[in-house]
Amino acid sequence: MSEASPERIWTHQDPDYLPPEIDTSKPSIARVYDAFLGGKDNFAVDRAIAMEGMKHFPDGGGGARNNRAMLFRGVKYMTEQGIDQFLDVGSGLPTMDNTHSVAQRVNPDARVVYVDNDPIVLAHARALLQTNDNTRVITADLREPEAIFHHPKVEGFLDFSRPIGLLLVAVVHHLGDDEGPAELVDVYKSRLASGSYLQLTHFCSCAPEVRALEGVLLSMLGTGRARDLKEITRFFDGLELVEPGVVHLPEWRPDEPVKLPLDLAGNCIAGGVARKP
Ligand code: SAM
Repeated sequence: MSEASPERIWTHQDPDYLPPEIDTSKPSIARVYDAFLGGKDNFAVDRAIAMEGMKHFPDGGGGARNNRAMLFRGVKYMTEQGIDQFLDVGSGLPTMDNTHSVAQRVNPDARVVYVDNDPIVLAHARALLQTNDNTRVITADLREPEAIFHHPKVEGFLDFSRPIGLLLVAVVHHLGDDEGPAELVDVYKSRLASGSYLQLTHFCSCAPEVRALEGVLLSMLGTGRARDLKEITRFFDGLELVEPGVVHLPEWRPDEPVKLPLDLAGNCIAGGVARKP
């Protein structure tokens, strides 16, 4: 492995370089998710969790792919409603398509800030975004909303007096009940201007196999809780749910007819999009 140098940026063209802040001995949520998606930006310690998870939850990564697909349908929808700025908290590693590419296909001037508490996301996204002036990435924690709203790269770049698209996609299930996830989401909602949207997805306890996957994630990764549809719907309190409401992800405004009943991958995550009145 090459020696770390702060001047170097991690890119796929420079695959041997690893930024010094990346610890490959401990699993990372972002990298485990990348392994579920079949990506290449993960290490043995992450793949071990994905493989154990797949033993108990053999969906072939379909749940993660459904989540990504619904994320993009939601971003496209919000951009078509006129939303031109997005705060994507718990954004994960960039993959083949990303929030900014979807939004900027509809509106090239749409601004996006990616937020993740895993430094690997910043290291990776920096290279991708070098030439995109309308997209930024910061390292910050979902649990500290004020640090995000007042971050120097966010303040003045996103205008919180205007409608915004807030993405909390597959991230709130990484908060424990003792961390008050619903109250935390309420703080974010209270900061949104009228006409803003929240898109949120969450592991759903609707299928019994999800509990087995939850057990693997909690024991090996220390995080990843399933909640039921009522609890997930609670996150949208005070907002107007966009049709069809809070549903299993393949059923949220699908581009093509959905095959029912949903399979394991279809049942494991639920979510929706809602507008602040
Ligand atoms: N939102 C992306 C998606 O749905 O495709 C990525 C979801 S991935 C399952 C969850 C991401 O949330 C990971 O990248 C992880 O590092 C990040 N994350 C987890 N807890 C966080 C926290 N407290 N603050 C910020 N990011 C967090």
